Amino acid sequence: MPRDPAALLKSVFGHEHFRGIQEDVVRHVVRGGDGVVVLPTGGGKSLCYQLPALCRDGVGIVVSPLIALMRDQVEALRQLGVDAAALNSAIAPEEASRTFRALREGTLDLLYVTPERLLGDNFLAMLARTPLALFAIDEAHCVSQWGHDFRPEYLGLARLGALFPGVPRLALTATADPETRADIRVRLGLAEAREFVSSFDRPNIRYEIVEKESSRRQLGEFLRGRDGESGIVYCLSRKKVEDVAAWLAGQGRRALPYHAGLAQAARDAAQDAFLREDGVVVVATIAFGMGIDKPDVRFVAHLDLPASIEAYSQETGRAGRDGLPAEAWMAYGLTDVVQRRRMIDEGAAPAEVKRVEHAKLDALLALCETAGCRRQVLLGHFGEALAEPCGNCDTCLSPVETWDATVAAQKALSAIHRTGARYGAAHVIDVLLGSDTDKVRAAGHDRLPTFGVGADLDQRAWRSVIRQLAAAGVIAVDHEAYGALTFGEGARAILRGERRIAMRRDRAARAVAAGIARARRGAAAEELPAADRPLFEALRAERLRLAREQGVPPYVVFHDATLREMARRRPRGREQMAEVPGVGAAKLERYGAAFLRVIAAMA
Ligand code: ADP
Ligand code: ZN
Repeated sequence: MPRDPAALLKSVFGHEHFRGIQEDVVRHVVRGGDGVVVLPTGGGKSLCYQLPALCRDGVGIVVSPLIALMRDQVEALRQLGVDAAALNSAIAPEEASRTFRALREGTLDLLYVTPERLLGDNFLAMLARTPLALFAIDEAHCVSQWGHDFRPEYLGLARLGALFPGVPRLALTATADPETRADIRVRLGLAEAREFVSSFDRPNIRYEIVEKESSRRQLGEFLRGRDGESGIVYCLSRKKVEDVAAWLAGQGRRALPYHAGLAQAARDAAQDAFLREDGVVVVATIAFGMGIDKPDVRFVAHLDLPASIEAYSQETGRAGRDGLPAEAWMAYGLTDVVQRRRMIDEGAAPAEVKRVEHAKLDALLALCETAGCRRQVLLGHFGEALAEPCGNCDTCLSPVETWDATVAAQKALSAIHRTGARYGAAHVIDVLLGSDTDKVRAAGHDRLPTFGVGADLDQRAWRSVIRQLAAAGVIAVDHEAYGALTFGEGARAILRGERRIAMRRDRAARAVAAGIARARRGAAAEELPAADRPLFEALRAERLRLAREQGVPPYVVFHDATLREMARRRPRGREQMAEVPGVGAAKLERYGAAFLRVIAAMA
């Protein structure tokens, strides 16, 4: 007889309610159904298989390629009083034999395995003699060649259906794109499985994209008032990672660099510090973040443009998994457009792949340049319509005007044309402004009819015009000619007056900051009242002590959200403590008394 999911949700996980599609998925699997689940990062995927595994008899087998993630999940489950274990290349032989014994004796609730392990003949034979609750195939997009992370071992998982008829199979992924989803069904033999697709919205994440001026200074301003918060800063190059990390450290931040060029030990140390300490900022190339599910990452900052909206939403999705307010901040400018286009053009990919890469970049550039709500563009990209502007992105909080830039575009294009399409943005702007520089005079460009025709706008405005024309592909950049601006698609139509073009008017950084500051004050009002802060800090200190004692990350003991509730409610006694969201039976047993003592001491 399956156990009741709602009861276990509270008693084991300490959660009051299911989130979004969780309840439907859980009930479907408890009844024995197969499923394909698409949930954004931080959406609460793991509960979709962990809870049914506890409700059904037998052990739940979770297939995952990410060994570090397995370790964290197993630790978090053990803290909840769940019998969980992992088998992978990093597990010591003694521990593996303990796990095999537990499997034979039927005492395990959940077992995490890599696909290689699972598909070994001995292991499959052993599973055939074991009562199984379900198979959960995590990171299921790894089975698809369309996806960004194809792993051939995943193809073998197609056999599970035939080998274990009657055992429900659940494929889970955070990748939304429809080709990958269709591929998952075909390749995993899940054609008949029910599909559960959640909204991709992460309402607690505030999106902010600012015009890049000096990325360091702007990052410094963004980080002001965020002491003690954990975050990730993404940069494109290893050198920039190291420079920015050193600079932040010089500003008194605990900031650590992370990129593929560092020794494994240094990378592990950075990752460990990020997980186990409060308030660490990791400055990283995209090599960082996969397989890390730290719930209390408060911000993700991009100092360089990612490759696509998919990459952007995956990276920013690492913020705010605990549901508390979090920020996705990015500084973006013309250099990003030039750099990304060059990376694609100079890459080794065949022409048709490059076309796709350019299209993906274009979609991201449209997000950067939109005058509308960022979240509407972002969700629209994933085929999801958001009826109203979100009210929690920079363009909602500090609205952007648009203007008819047709004449300005014509002037810029004609300056490019008249100078022979051989110069970069700085020189073209000098010609437009009528600047009397040596380079202008040496080339005789002060005698051109376009010289000085752009004096009605300032340099910043011209940079904005050129950036937007480049983002729209009207201006192309010739990488072989040192970044010379040339004509792209539609340039001639604009020059001939056949096409009009609207642009966003870039806002003064001050105006954007003021809009965001207003929103933060609003959010602060919902946050913890000042009177409860000292207790919250004391609870955090207790959490850190308990976490260190066991060598686990603090959030494995309790989430910030749970400590906040404790600070607000100030429970007295076990019964009241048990009602705090996030406090399940096992954690009450283990930590209840310690935290009650802290609360009593501060009363
Ligand atoms: P994903 O794997 O989809 O990125 P996780 O499964 O790690 O997300 O869940 C993200 C966070 O949300 C976790 O910290 C988890 O404890 C929390 N969470 C999941 N489901 C619920 C729920 N129903 N109520 C409250 N918190 C939840
Ligand atoms: Zn918005």
